[in-house]
Amino acid sequence: MPVTEAATGPVAATVAVTESVAATESVAVTEAVAVTEAARVSGTVTATARLSGTVTVAATETVTETVTATSAETVAVPVISDRPSPFREMLFGGAHVLAVVGAVFVGASWRLVALAVGAYYLRMFFITAGYHRYFAHRSFKTSRAFQFVLAFGGALAAQKGPLWWASHHRHHHKFSDMPEDVHSPTQRGFFWAHVGWILSPRHKKPRLELIADFTRFPELRFLNRFWLLPPLLGLAGLWLAGGLPWAVWGGLVSTAFLWHGTFTINSLAHVFGRRVYATGDTSKNSMLLALITMGEGWHNNHHRYMASASQGFRWWEVDMSFEILRVLSWVGIVWNVRRAPDEVLAEGRLPLAPLDVPATARP
Ligand SMILES: [Zn+2]
Ligand SMILES: [Zn+2]
Repeated sequence: MPVTEAATGPVAATVAVTESVAATESVAVTEAVAVTEAARVSGTVTATARLSGTVTVAATETVTETVTATSAETVAVPVISDRPSPFREMLFGGAHVLAVVGAVFVGASWRLVALAVGAYYLRMFFITAGYHRYFAHRSFKTSRAFQFVLAFGGALAAQKGPLWWASHHRHHHKFSDMPEDVHSPTQRGFFWAHVGWILSPRHKKPRLELIADFTRFPELRFLNRFWLLPPLLGLAGLWLAGGLPWAVWGGLVSTAFLWHGTFTINSLAHVFGRRVYATGDTSKNSMLLALITMGEGWHNNHHRYMASASQGFRWWEVDMSFEILRVLSWVGIVWNVRRAPDEVLAEGRLPLAPLDVPATARP
């Protein structure tokens, strides 16, 4: 069993031991240790070992005896901390401080605010239409060239690479609001769901097994590894084009708002709003969040039918990302744009069943 750190504090674990004793006195023991997810977080693991085996004595007679015993032992398990890494905290917190100090230093103007808003919504489109609806849910098809444009545009938002983003999001749909959910506000609180999970070392790596359909593209693997490159290039480009004021407002200020705008879907969209579908999770629909995130606020609709490229299911449910995708489909840049079937739309008009989170992963 790999050991990276000795645990401290009591945590339950289960140890299954199978022991067979032959008459020749040679003893073979196989041991399987199943440690709960909580045990990996912290704690001395006090394992209750259940010994069960068969003792066979070969002589003039054969005796078979089943032994059941319990004992306690301390084992060390790999511990992965949930505490945010100081480097990431510094990077994330520092960007906020730089945005505020920079904005005060260079001053504000309507032109600069418009630049920040433009850079916000341009990159929000790439996050929602690219990272989310294309890479996580494959809700439409496109060429390999435009696939790269979607990945690069999403990376400009400084929310890590497309494989990391989409694989964790697929995991969220499988386990939403269960203990395994990476960012459930009902399981771990608002702060964890909003930003804590991103800064913790626990979820640093992409879940490559969940995104195998895209790992075969070397350009996506490159962007996923060097995910800071696009935002740094973007910042340099803004600086060259308009000097420090453009870099501050179009880069730092816009990116800080873009982070929190996007993160509201992991935190607030599972707290505030209206449930229309009995999805077995706490996802909600919210017009305000839909306006902030170009359509992602219809999160309850999305949890009901995640394969749909459109998240606004009714005519008044504004979804700007989908409107842009619709235009892109007219000119042949994207195709096979999927929508929710009529039965699903009709289901939304039925009385709502009470919330019932399932105990096991969704398919
Ligand atoms: Zn969700
Ligand atoms: Zn989704």
